[in-house]
Amino acid sequence: MSTEHTSTSQKNSSAAALSTSDTGSPGGFGVTAETLAPSALDIHVLSQELGRQVRDVAEIPARCVCGNPLVAATAPRLSNGSPFPTVFYLAHPVITAAASRFEAEGKMYEMTDRIAEDPEIAQQYQAAHENYIAERERIRLQTGTEEVPEIDGISAGGMPTRVKCLHAVLGHTLSVGRGINPFGDETLDLIAEYWTPEQCACDPAWRESFEG
Ligand SMILES: [Zn+2]
Repeated sequence: MSTEHTSTSQKNSSAAALSTSDTGSPGGFGVTAETLAPSALDIHVLSQELGRQVRDVAEIPARCVCGNPLVAATAPRLSNGSPFPTVFYLAHPVITAAASRFEAEGKMYEMTDRIAEDPEIAQQYQAAHENYIAERERIRLQTGTEEVPEIDGISAGGMPTRVKCLHAVLGHTLSVGRGINPFGDETLDLIAEYWTPEQCACDPAWRESFEG
């Protein structure tokens, strides 16, 4: 992973192979097995969305209807050596802003209370936690990353006992589809007045500034 260029082209072949032969069709919004691998344009658009140069992107697990990345799937150890537990990193600023509104209202505390009160949702959230770790392990193997003991058993967003970050659970739902993370699914419903998967809220400048 010395440069963006080599890491992108290396992963094009491994992502396609894994997604078709090992894991079946990807479940994320707006993606197919053919569009999981990040292109140079994807890396550029992600960098525009986040306002910084993105690195170590292994897959685009969710896309806008226009094709732009919504989420970056990132290797569990960055090339600078830091452990990176948030395999599904929500990148789209319209969606992150919408989730932030509901964090400001304290929605994650209500959700956390329901984990203690509702055994069914607690069990679903435990399964979501396990799915998240399994997905990260898949990305780890795909990117040839050594094991990352610092984050062993740790997922993201407070799973499985708390909801700490709506961005993390929403990034999970967008990347694996509905029906796996109950609080990610709820967050997607909550933000519907600001963004839905059927609408494009991208800034055209993200693509127009690409000099590929
Ligand atoms: Zn779009």
